[in-house]
Amino acid sequence: MAFSQAPTPTDREALLRDFKVRLGIIADLEQAAALLSWDQQTYMPPGAAETRAQQLSTLAKIVHAHVTDPAMSEQLERLEQQNVAPGSDEAALLRVARRGYERASKLPSEFVEAFSRLRSQSHHIWAEARRENDFARFEPTLEKLLEFALRQADYYGYEEHPFDALHDLYEPGSTAAKVKAVFEPLKAATVALLGEIAAGRELSDAPLRQPFNEAEQEAFAVKVIKDFGFDFRHGRLDRTVHPFAQSMSKYDVRITTRFHPEFLNAALFSILHEAGHGLYEQGIADAYQRLPLGSGASLGVHESQSRLYENLLGRSYAFWQHYYPQLQQHFPQLQATSLDDFYAAINVVRPSLIRVEADEVTYNLHIMVRFELELALLEGSLKVAELPEAWNAKYQAYLGINPPSDALGCLQDVHWAFAGFGYFPTYTLGNIMSVQLFEAAKRAHPEIERELGAGEFGTLLTWLREHVHRHGAKYEPHELLKRATGSELDAAPYIRYLQAKYRALYGVENVA
Ligand code: ZN
Repeated sequence: MAFSQAPTPTDREALLRDFKVRLGIIADLEQAAALLSWDQQTYMPPGAAETRAQQLSTLAKIVHAHVTDPAMSEQLERLEQQNVAPGSDEAALLRVARRGYERASKLPSEFVEAFSRLRSQSHHIWAEARRENDFARFEPTLEKLLEFALRQADYYGYEEHPFDALHDLYEPGSTAAKVKAVFEPLKAATVALLGEIAAGRELSDAPLRQPFNEAEQEAFAVKVIKDFGFDFRHGRLDRTVHPFAQSMSKYDVRITTRFHPEFLNAALFSILHEAGHGLYEQGIADAYQRLPLGSGASLGVHESQSRLYENLLGRSYAFWQHYYPQLQQHFPQLQATSLDDFYAAINVVRPSLIRVEADEVTYNLHIMVRFELELALLEGSLKVAELPEAWNAKYQAYLGINPPSDALGCLQDVHWAFAGFGYFPTYTLGNIMSVQLFEAAKRAHPEIERELGAGEFGTLLTWLREHVHRHGAKYEPHELLKRATGSELDAAPYIRYLQAKYRALYGVENVA
């Protein structure tokens, strides 16, 4: 089809309006699916599992049909041929819509169906294998998942590594090479820091391991996230097995947690973490709602917000100077624990087997193990059958521990069971970006540090709203970071942060 005559401005406006109507329908369908999925993980009675899977699959098919509708791609093409101001919301909208269309249309529908069937079966098989500590039971399924992931990467296309095509789904613009460039210095610094910590003083987390009333845990955490700015008029907190945040739009942002009756960290830090995700979603511009711009820039940028609130605030000394007396009022059993001992307790570094329970320092090593193994699996240099052995060898090498079972080893995470290759590095990218963003905010507003010690978070939130949240998916992560901080992705500020904090905590001086 040729468009020899440029449409008049009114034509163009009408075309854009019509295009947005279509995008709005897709967003509504996706948000309805998100609500069904939230319900699946919170309140759905177990007997509804099969019908719920059917409902979600039907919605996914309808969304796919809308996204790949030829009438819509024709509109998109016509809009792309117009003079759209670079850097405008409209240009970003067309870029993100194009990306969604390419993603959806490059995969043959038989492949999509077969892959989706495989993934829903594999979750069950993985869960069983983990429960029974039986890797062999999951092995043939993981082989199939890997094969599908490689085909998916081929359909999308890539220049250097199949990992790049898959990773780009979660972190637009990032590649294995870019990940390696920040992971390598972080790995070396982390291993060295762990050596220093091992020679430092003993810290104890015993104060956190005693009975804590659940209602009091919830009341305290809710007070804190309200102070952060989490808006309960547009949000909820519910209970689940694995904490997560799910946004149905910026007006309905739901976070979940699980309470442990005898360990304070489980609920407290997961609530601060998920609230960070929630604040991001609640801060996206109104104008981007019901459009593909109305979500976060990437998983990594999302994680930078959750880690900022969980760790850079929630595990800082200044934060607890303000909140510790309040926490002690909720839990009189902490009266005997000093602020310094409490601060040490929430920051104990201890190499452990389980990623989601890891401290700030060792956490990234868990991610690096997975990243390196994924690359090897995708390259074919590691066979699926060799995975448990390779996993254990890396845990020994990086963390100095030997997983006693595959359930506590390579079967612990759900990601590979949904073929989520390329996902893991986003956690560490988020950690790295969290410090870059926090430092940029403090450079612009040095009073943030003092406000933290007074339980005031408004200046910080305003800065994050302005430089990160409101932009939604308008910018790719590297561009967002550059605009917000003036820098490229860089592990150095994060490394300096870890070194300063943990050398002080463990009473070790930098001899270098
Ligand atoms: Zn998170």
